[in-house]
Amino acid sequence: MEYKPTIGLEIHAELATKSKMFCGCKNDPDEKKPNVNICPVCMAHPGTLPVINKEAVKSVLRVGLALGGTLADYTEWDRKNYFYPDIPKGYQISQYKFPLVSGGKLKGVEITRVHLEEDTARSQHGTSRTDLDIISRSVLDESLIDYNRAGVPLMELVTEPVITSAKQAGDFARELQLILRYLGVAEANMEKGEMRVEANVSVSKSPRTDLKDAPRSVLGTKTEVKNINSFRAVEKAIDYEIERQIAVLESGEKVIQETRGWDDGKGVTFSQRKKESSHDYRYFPDPDLPKLWLSKIEAFKDLKETIPELPQQKRERLTKLDLQSQDVEQYLNDSNLANFLDVVVTELKTPALIKIASNFITNDIAGQRKKNPDWPLSTPNHFVAVVRRYQAGELSSPQAKSSILSGAMAEVASTDTLPGLVANIIAANPKVIAEYKAGKEPALQFLVGQGMKESKGSANPEGLRKLIKEAVK
Ligand code: ADP
Ligand code: ZN
Ligand code: MG
Repeated sequence: MEYKPTIGLEIHAELATKSKMFCGCKNDPDEKKPNVNICPVCMAHPGTLPVINKEAVKSVLRVGLALGGTLADYTEWDRKNYFYPDIPKGYQISQYKFPLVSGGKLKGVEITRVHLEEDTARSQHGTSRTDLDIISRSVLDESLIDYNRAGVPLMELVTEPVITSAKQAGDFARELQLILRYLGVAEANMEKGEMRVEANVSVSKSPRTDLKDAPRSVLGTKTEVKNINSFRAVEKAIDYEIERQIAVLESGEKVIQETRGWDDGKGVTFSQRKKESSHDYRYFPDPDLPKLWLSKIEAFKDLKETIPELPQQKRERLTKLDLQSQDVEQYLNDSNLANFLDVVVTELKTPALIKIASNFITNDIAGQRKKNPDWPLSTPNHFVAVVRRYQAGELSSPQAKSSILSGAMAEVASTDTLPGLVANIIAANPKVIAEYKAGKEPALQFLVGQGMKESKGSANPEGLRKLIKEAVK
């Protein structure tokens, strides 16, 4: 019997609020100077009290709506106790029993919960320090801590153990990133650590018909993989872990429940620590924070109306335009390009024209913007005109492209000049004409090329071809 992998994800995302979760400090993930966005509250000075950031709560509730989850009526915050320098209070304010959101679904994957907590500080250890060129022996034992990130609102989403492949896990995480961006609640760059994916992985031979209702005991022992910095790495780490666990079981040993790190350079996971369980954290409701009855709070009413078109809806809408799925995904990831397409579509209307337009957008315009992100998309009228003339055969493909990219309409030789041009070509190329008459098709292409050259690219190649054919018949 084959081993079947089971995966559950825990995904953290820093919310893009103006201020931190429980104080007025600036929430600025791009601040390079350490320890400037701090205050007595987020530095845990005695006697300070936290205040709840309404925008952060609202963001998570909107995520809940976008995922089809149930919003809590009642919620409270808990203290998760542990001692580590990146957590100044000695506990993290999180949510345990009463998460803001329960349930929901994304790409067929059931979501357990979405809750709100505060982020930790950033630490740099020993040789990874970036503030020094010279590393002395004593520095190797030192750590630096930057508290700018301490207390930043952090959303945590947990899925049920129902994902069955690395690819599915990667797709889930990518789609969640899109949703967070469409909602405008997070930048969620994995490379910057604004979004962090932890993968829980197990393998088992036990047949399971309905994973959601299957008792956890039918699943294998899981490991949790951390320090994953890209979507690609999510998939690689999971695949590695599946293979590693199968090898452990095949050799007659047992998988140990533990936290493992991902080494992207080596492409391996490595043991970090044996997993603590929730009772180690001694959770209890934070007595400094008010309990909230969310449905009674004005700011959280009518949030449904703030949900924009979501990636899946947009995907379905664009797919109906008969675009290739690869192009659709390109639009989903680039809202400027997609907005440009939307304007163009309302002008062009017919499927054939829209397809031509989309090809120019996803290849030529997108290519240009890759080289120069500031390349302007501001002239849909010009673009639409070029597409129409291209389809009518008045512009060649290179002419249309250069016209789109230059923003100026290509100089097109008037059709009146073509007969004269053709006469010249025929007079200048008697040998090639003879070859063509003898049945050599490529000769015609050469003659058209001569015409394009002579007209400095301004002639319409289809017109030329037609006229030459007629003239030598
Ligand atoms: P823990 O108490 O160890 O943190 P949880 O029940 O809270 O475990 O689940 C944490 C994450 O691990 C969830 O995403 C869940 O889907 C996943 N998970 C739980 N059990 C397994 C398993 N046997 N295999 C894979 N993933 C699992
Ligand atoms: Zn502060
Ligand atoms: Mg857990």
